[in-house]
Amino acid sequence: MSSPDLTAADVAAVNDVLETRYLSLGPQLVAFEEAFAAAVGVRHAVGVNSGTSGLHLSVIAAGIEENDLVITTPFSFIASANCVLFERAIPIFVDVDPQTLNIDPAQVAQAADHLSRGGDAAKRWLPPAIRNSQCASRHLKAILPVDAFGQPADYDAIRAVAVEHDLWVIEDSCEAIGATYKGRPAGTLGDAAVFAFYPNKQITAGEGGMIVTDRDDWAALFRSLRNQGRDVFDAWLNHTRLGYNYRLDEMSAALGLSQLKRIEELLEKRERVAGWYKQRLAGVEGIQVPYVAPSTTRMSWFVYVVRIAPAMGCIAPAMGRDRVMQALKARGIPSRPYFTPIHLQPFYRERFGYQRGRFPVTEMAGDTCLALPFSGVMEERQVDRVCAVLRDALT
Ligand SMILES: *Cc1c(COP(=O)(O)O)cnc(C)c1O
Repeated sequence: MSSPDLTAADVAAVNDVLETRYLSLGPQLVAFEEAFAAAVGVRHAVGVNSGTSGLHLSVIAAGIEENDLVITTPFSFIASANCVLFERAIPIFVDVDPQTLNIDPAQVAQAADHLSRGGDAAKRWLPPAIRNSQCASRHLKAILPVDAFGQPADYDAIRAVAVEHDLWVIEDSCEAIGATYKGRPAGTLGDAAVFAFYPNKQITAGEGGMIVTDRDDWAALFRSLRNQGRDVFDAWLNHTRLGYNYRLDEMSAALGLSQLKRIEELLEKRERVAGWYKQRLAGVEGIQVPYVAPSTTRMSWFVYVVRIAPAMGCIAPAMGRDRVMQALKARGIPSRPYFTPIHLQPFYRERFGYQRGRFPVTEMAGDTCLALPFSGVMEERQVDRVCAVLRDALT
């Protein structure tokens, strides 16, 4: 499906760390953080061991506690909602925009209005299983938009809601390094933003994540929380607060830094592959190529996701997509449904009582979206083959 783009320089960077015998909390981490902060254009970047860890620490920094409410999208990778659950808070899903598949700002505004007012208006936004339980403290604290597939959410509209209701904005930019929104880089659009470096991401560190923020107090808190709650001035084994081991090791930091030096090249290669796909698939009946909003001044291509039109007269919309997926598989081409809506994941259904029908736009996307093989190292003839087989499968 995807393949990391690694060079001899990347390999040498990791080997050099091993030679130094300095494997954690060393100079590579500092260098990676400084280069990353400069690349995004923020005051602070704090390295952690995954994007999920970064989201968790951002939720803590925003003061989100048990039974607090956080507005977020159900059309995402599960970590963007799980991080709210880690603090026993409640993700409030609102449906997505049918074109961008990012959180719909109009519904964010409505949900924030109703939830701040409380009472019956608020109820319909709460998960079914806890809608009628009396919970004394339920405060709306934050909005957590996701820059899905590498396209920034609509932050001007989202921030207006945040300002009106005094909410934090935590940006899940794990899929959007290098993207820009109205000329502003992803990562600068919320109070804190999180990036991730799993091997399928635009740049990889093996595993790893980076939290960025302009806030000095949050940056200091992130550094403490990732290292078992130690403050910089704490004596050895003195722990000021409850913390975690979310540290990013030196080998990973060195690989991340080495990759970051090539970020322009890596993004351009992915953009070129996306262009090949678009050239071959735009206008093909039964297929919708990715929509890039005018506000997205630069798309950072994370995946190439097409939508397969539901078959005529078909009651289950996913059937058309699944048939295409099988046909591709039969010819040796991997593809995946992407995303599976979070509210329909077994654990969320069970805990929150969600059923099909609650978020129709998200569910339609979940039924029709298909991620095709995609990476910066794909060649034009490989894209050709995928598209030829795909066109075949549709007829
Ligand atoms: C990759 C990703 C994350 C974080 O992933 P990790 O595997 O924990 O690094 C979070 N949110 C989204 C939307 C992602 O795609």
